[in-house]
Amino acid sequence: MPYEPPVECPLCQETLELDQTLEMHLVGSHTQREVARYLASHHERVQPRSVSD
Ligand SMILES: [Zn+2]
Repeated sequence: MPYEPPVECPLCQETLELDQTLEMHLVGSHTQREVARYLASHHERVQPRSVSD
């Protein structure tokens, strides 16, 4: 019986219900703009600037 760890929303750090998926939470609790802004800022942060090549 696999243990499923609780999913935490990366936007609001809210722990989701066991029967709720992150997708459902994002659609229901956050606007497209909020999700897009998070993804954009996260993408910019994690993408290193390659200066050696
Ligand atoms: Zn959230």
